[in-house]
Amino acid sequence: MRCFSCHSLSLSPICRKCHEKLFRPSISMRRVGTLDVISFFEYADIELFLLSKYELFGHRIFRYFSRRHMAPFLEAFAEGLDRKIHMLCIDDNCDRGYSHTAILGHYAQNEKIEVLHSVLRATNRVSYAGKSLEYRLGNPRKFEYSGPRDIEVILIDDIVTTGLTLQEAHNILLEKGVDVLFALTLADASR
Ligand SMILES: [Zn+2]
Repeated sequence: MRCFSCHSLSLSPICRKCHEKLFRPSISMRRVGTLDVISFFEYADIELFLLSKYELFGHRIFRYFSRRHMAPFLEAFAEGLDRKIHMLCIDDNCDRGYSHTAILGHYAQNEKIEVLHSVLRATNRVSYAGKSLEYRLGNPRKFEYSGPRDIEVILIDDIVTTGLTLQEAHNILLEKGVDVLFALTLADASR
């Protein structure tokens, strides 16, 4: 295949040169409500790649980000854990043949951190892309949670913008007795 960025022949969707040149993660943390949100990149730096979620080949791009960026972070985090915890991926339904957030979670799992699929669902399937804060506030995602209680989770999403989606998910999980340790997103659009 060819590198998604420079189009040279490559075994990976992002060739080694581009990986080293383009993707120097600058991990940042921000607080939304009472939730800490950790992000790897500034949105503008990886926008082109994030938009691949609307294309079929995007699953390879998101697999790359999961394996090369989220997985090492969670591997390091797991070293300090003496118990098993879980990941919940926002919007892990498969309308386009795959779910980009489910892919982010799936390839970043390790012995102590496993994904729970399809237990956190938005019943309002509105798209927030390019929408105002007002619109977002007026159209909550209305999450439903059907997973186990009394577990600890990390929330996974591709982008944090206003943080409203993550906050909404956080609130419903609190009601269900789920302890959200923090949220992990590839990009922070507010940086
Ligand atoms: Zn390249």
